[in-house]
Amino acid sequence: MSWSGWGDPARARELPEPVRALLRDLLGVRAPGTPAASLEQVALPAVALARPLLGALAEVVGDGHVLTGHEARVRHTRGKSTPDLLRMRAGDGSAAPDAVVLPGSHEEVAELLRLCSRERVAVVPFGGGTSVVGGLAADRAGFAGVIALDLGRLDRLLFVDEESMVAGFEPGVRAPDAERLLAGHGLTLGHFPQSFEYATLGGFAAARSSGQASAGYGRFDDMVVGLTLATPSGTLELGRAPKSAAGPDLRQLVLGSEGAFGVITSLRLRVRRAPAERRYEGWRFASFAAGSAAVRALAQEGPLPTVLRLSDETETMIGLAKPDGIGTGGADGSGCLLIAGYEGARVAGRHAAASAVLARSGGEPLGPEPGQAWEHGRFSAPYLRDSLLAAGATVETLETAGFWANLPRLYDAVRLALLGALGSPLVMCHISHVYETGASLYFTVVTPQDADPVAQWQRAKAAVNASIVEAGGTITHHHGVGRDHLDAYASELGPVGAGILRAVKAELDPAGILNPGVLVPPAVS
Ligand SMILES: Cc1cc2nc3c(=O)[nH]c(=O)nc-3n(C[C@H](O)[C@H](O)[C@H](O)COP(=O)(O)OP(=O)(O)OC[C@H]3O[C@@H](n4cnc5c(N)ncnc54)[C@H](O)[C@@H]3O)c2cc1C
Repeated sequence: MSWSGWGDPARARELPEPVRALLRDLLGVRAPGTPAASLEQVALPAVALARPLLGALAEVVGDGHVLTGHEARVRHTRGKSTPDLLRMRAGDGSAAPDAVVLPGSHEEVAELLRLCSRERVAVVPFGGGTSVVGGLAADRAGFAGVIALDLGRLDRLLFVDEESMVAGFEPGVRAPDAERLLAGHGLTLGHFPQSFEYATLGGFAAARSSGQASAGYGRFDDMVVGLTLATPSGTLELGRAPKSAAGPDLRQLVLGSEGAFGVITSLRLRVRRAPAERRYEGWRFASFAAGSAAVRALAQEGPLPTVLRLSDETETMIGLAKPDGIGTGGADGSGCLLIAGYEGARVAGRHAAASAVLARSGGEPLGPEPGQAWEHGRFSAPYLRDSLLAAGATVETLETAGFWANLPRLYDAVRLALLGALGSPLVMCHISHVYETGASLYFTVVTPQDADPVAQWQRAKAAVNASIVEAGGTITHHHGVGRDHLDAYASELGPVGAGILRAVKAELDPAGILNPGVLVPPAVS
């Protein structure tokens, strides 16, 4: 993984000419961004942890599993939001951990948490490092130091129970490895977020992730049937049955807990048979409103395709759903493009029934090409962000969700907030996670960088957060809270809800060492 950008540096992409033209002619991007620092140039704070403490950490995990070298610390600094990347490109390593610690078992994690609680060392659980909400930068104040708890050594498939269709994993398994391990049994998880190639199963659970095929396979939190959480107060073992009436479901308290309540050390996940057949295609709708009504009809009446993505007019015009052809428009560049994908059993029947609903709702079939183009480029769009940053444009994504009746208001509110804060940015949106009662809205924004692009984006983000709260949406559908959404999350929860989170935190993590500053709204005095 690139330390200051996305993915495999060998796959970095030059901006195609149509995109350069868009930046120049539509957005007025004139000057390139500041060139990126080299890894060696990143300025890190001195290691704050005393030698004896580093020795004590090494006693728990073994020599060689406590890293304080420059590169290891840089690679565990922040996540992959655009402000994170801008700061890394500028050589700002101020949020670096003092050490990277790699435990090899649940027992080692539990022992580390006891040690760090005693010695007041902040602990940031680190999966794939793809957080886009500031979930990996801890508050240092009041701590002897900060460690990144890298879960990469906990990377085993623990069991496969084909009768119950449940598989057990350690948390540091990356999504492609999980799919590869399951493929040996003819199974799949079906969880394919755009960060698929790097994110881990533990990170998906901790941040309540949702993948591109959520219409068919569900969100990641739908897949978790059991888990083990190591906390400074002891171990929490959850999930002895698929459903239970034995009180509130505490699994839900761990899902989305973003490393603030404990460290997920194993997961039991619902799996499905690997699809025998896949079919993707495109449809055109006259407007986002017409397409939304069609998507709602599918969600409410069925059958739902496995993949369902509806771009608004701007996203369709730019061609964002087909990242390899961005800026080229084409035959399906007008109206609103819908991608429908069908995987698994009875594909022909489901396709026919869903197509009837789409046609009845005013959709025009575009055939397999747009669907295949989407599938081909489904993980490549993030590579473009690095090239755009270098070219002098800021590009960032943000998301929310709401009930169907409120979705148009939410859509307008976010767009207006972005336009108000940034002048005339390019704002694109799609719906790709749908429910009977509502859907998420996922926005992509492109704007010319000003002299301080981090501050520029922070102003825009603050305006959007306020607009989402005001318009009655949730501050996040699948990216999580981290630091970037904390204020809005506090408003969403209200004082009683925020108090519950603080009480849980105090019970599980009395010394407050776990990911301080993330998820839990501070008490207002
Ligand atoms: C280019 C790009 C595309 C993305 N696309 C999507 C998408 O389509 N859908 C989506 O849902 N998200 C997406 N994301 C966001 C991100 O991938 C998810 O939040 C993912 O769930 C994070 O997984 P990770 O392993 O990288 O976790 P990390 O980023 O390492 O950690 C995320 C949070 O969880 C905590 N954590 C990690 N592991 C554990 C553990 N074992 N126990 C306790 N806490 C833990 C961390 O402390 C942190 O707070 C995208 C991000 C990027 C950069």
